[in-house]
Amino acid sequence: MVRRRIQAATLAAFVFMLVYTCSVIYVQLQSIERGAQTEARNLARAVAYGTALTGDPQGYVQGLDELYKRDIVIVDTRKKGLADADPDEVGMTYDHDSGNEVGLTILDGKARTFVEQNERHPEGLTQMVVPAFSQGMAVGAPTGAVILEYTGIRQELLDAALAHIYLVGVAGVLCALATIILGFQLGNAVKASAQKIHHLAFHDELTGLSNRAMFSTSLNEGLKGANGLPGAIAVLFIDLDRFKNINDTLGHAAGDLLLKEVAVRITSCLHSGDSVARLGGDEFVVIAHGRSDADSLSQLAKKVLAAVAQPFNTHGQEFRVTASIGIAVYPEDGEDEQMLMRNADIAMYQAKQDGKNGFAFYSAEMNQHSVERLAFESSFRHAVDRMYFHIHYQPKIDSRTGRIDGVEALLRWDDPDLGSVSPVKFIPVAEETGLIVPLGRWVLRSACEQQVAWVKQGLHPISMAVNLSPRQFADEGLLEDVRSILATTGMAPGCLELEITESMLIQEAGRAVELLEALRGLGIRLAVDDFGTGYSSLSNLKRFPVDTIKVDRSFIRELPDNSEDRAITEAIIAMGRSLSLNVVAEGVETREQATFLREHGCDQFQGFYFSKAVPAAEIYNLLEDQEVRGIKFG
Ligand code: C2E
Ligand code: MG
Ligand code: MG
Repeated sequence: MVRRRIQAATLAAFVFMLVYTCSVIYVQLQSIERGAQTEARNLARAVAYGTALTGDPQGYVQGLDELYKRDIVIVDTRKKGLADADPDEVGMTYDHDSGNEVGLTILDGKARTFVEQNERHPEGLTQMVVPAFSQGMAVGAPTGAVILEYTGIRQELLDAALAHIYLVGVAGVLCALATIILGFQLGNAVKASAQKIHHLAFHDELTGLSNRAMFSTSLNEGLKGANGLPGAIAVLFIDLDRFKNINDTLGHAAGDLLLKEVAVRITSCLHSGDSVARLGGDEFVVIAHGRSDADSLSQLAKKVLAAVAQPFNTHGQEFRVTASIGIAVYPEDGEDEQMLMRNADIAMYQAKQDGKNGFAFYSAEMNQHSVERLAFESSFRHAVDRMYFHIHYQPKIDSRTGRIDGVEALLRWDDPDLGSVSPVKFIPVAEETGLIVPLGRWVLRSACEQQVAWVKQGLHPISMAVNLSPRQFADEGLLEDVRSILATTGMAPGCLELEITESMLIQEAGRAVELLEALRGLGIRLAVDDFGTGYSSLSNLKRFPVDTIKVDRSFIRELPDNSEDRAITEAIIAMGRSLSLNVVAEGVETREQATFLREHGCDQFQGFYFSKAVPAAEIYNLLEDQEVRGIKFG
C-alpha cells in the first residue's frame, strides 16, 4: 500500500521533471525565435532605410548578400522585385508568401513573418517582411517592402544557445531518472521494513516463532474451519519446569539460548499442519490439527517432552530442563480460544502438580480443583493481610542427655472461617504467590525475638531452627535480612539454624554454595531438612557447608520393623557422622524408634513422642521444668 503510493509519487515526480525540462527548453527556443525575429526586423528596416538613401537597391542588396550571406528581396507596392540577392529574380512579382503577407505589410505598414516554401528549400525559409518608405523614415504610405530571410540568424542564435539547451535537457533527464530509481528503491525499502514490522508484530523476536497475536489468529482460523468436527484441533500448553532457576543460575544469555533451542526442538516434533507459538517467558503452545484420538496426542506430548529433556550444552556445561504439558481438545474441552487456553493451562498446572516432566489431558475435575485453588489463594492473601498467623515451636531432644536443646519454629494459620490450615497446604501457595518472602522474614524475626526473650527470662540459650523455602533462598535480600535481624534482635548467631531442603542445593548448586558460605560467615548454622527425599547423595553433601542433616520422617515411620528403612537410616546416620554432621531424626513417634536411633548414634530427636509443636509459653514451661526440676524428656 505504502509502496504503491511512493511509486505513484515517484512516477508523478518523474513526469513533472520531464515536462519541466521540456518547458524550459521550449521557452528558450521561443526566446531564440523572438530574438531572431527582432534581429531580422531591425536588419530589414536598416536595409529599407539604406536602400532609400543609396538609390541603388540592387547593388546594395547584392553587397549585403556577398558580405553577410543575407538573402534579401526588395519589392515595390505591387510586389514587383526591385532588387534581389539573386539578380535573375529582379522584375518578377514576388509570390512566395502564401498568405500574401508582403501585400498586407505594404498596405498597413506592419512588419510580418512568414514561411516561404520552394522546391530548393522544402523545409521552408523563414522570412521577415518590413515596409519600405521613399524617404527611408516611416513617413507616409509604404512604397514597397523589404523581405529578409532570417533562417541564418536564427541558426546562429540557436548555435550559441545549444550548449545551454543541451545541458538543461541532459540534467533534466538525469534528475528525472535519478528520481525514479531512488523512488523505486525507497518503495522497496519501505516494503521491506513494512514486512519487518509485520513480522515483529506477529513473531517472537527471540525464537522466531509466532507470538501470542499470531497464535490467536491461527487458532481462531483453525476453529472456524473445524466446524464442530471432533478432535479437529487440540491445544498443547507447554511450560518449562524451573526455568527461573536456570535463568537465575546460568544467566539470562544462557536462558535465551535455551529458549531458542527449545523452540527448535518443539518445532521438530510437529506435523506440517501443526503450529507452535511462544506466548512469552517459558510458555509455548502448540496447535495440533487432525489428531482425533488421545493416543496420537499423547504420542505428540511424549515426543515433545523427550525432545526438551535432551541435555543442553552451554559454556561447556551440560544441563537438562524438563517441561510440563497440558492438553485441551476441541470441542469437548472448549469451543473457543479462551476456553481451550484456560483449560490447557489448568491441565498443565495439573501436570506440574503430578511431579513435572509430564503431560495431562484436561478434565472437568481439574477445573473444580483450580477453582478451589483460586479460592484458597484468595483466602491465604486475606489471612496475610489480617495476619492470622502465629508460630509454634517443636522441641528437639539431645539423644544422649535427654534434654531439650533446641526448637524448630513452625508456622501456624488459624483462620476464623477455615479453622487451622496445615502448612503443607499453604506453604506451596505462599511460594507461588511470592508472599513467603515477607511472611518468612516475619517468622525469622519473631523466632529470634522469642529465643532472646527466653534467655532474658533466665533460661539457658537453646538453638532455634527456622525453615527457609526455595523462594526465600532465591531472594537477593536473604543475607541482608538475616544479618539485620540478628543485629536488631541481639540473638547469638550460633543459636540460629536455618533449614533448607536438598532440592534447593541441587537446583542452584553454584549460587547455593556461595550463599551458604556467606550465611555461615554470619556465624549461624545450616541444616538440610527432609534429608533422603531429594536426589542428592551423601557424598554430594561434602560440597555444601552444612552442619546438620534431618533424616526425613518417612524413613523413621516404620522403624525399627522395616528392614529397608532400617538400612537407609543406619547408612545416613553413619555417613553423617563420618562427615562430622549433626544428625537429627524427624517424626519420632515411638519409644522403639527413639531407642533404635539412639543405638545407631543419632544425635537429636524431634517428634510427637516427645512433643508436638506448641506455643512459646509451653516451651517456656518445658524448659523451666527441665532446668529447675531436672526433668528429662528422652
Ligand atoms: P518440616 O520443616 O519438615 O517440619 C516438620 C513437620 O513435621 C512439621 O509439620 C511437624 O509438625 C511435623 N512433625 C513433627 N513431628 C512429627 C511426628 O512425630 N509425626 C508426624 N507425622 N509429623 C511430625 P508442619 O508444622 O505441618 O509443617 C510442615 C512443613 O511446612 C514443614 O516441614 C516445613 O517444610 C513447612 N513449614 C512450616 N513452617 C514453615 C515456615 O515458617 N517457613 C517455611 N518456609 N516452611 C515452613
Ligand atoms: Mg523443618
Ligand atoms: Mg522436615
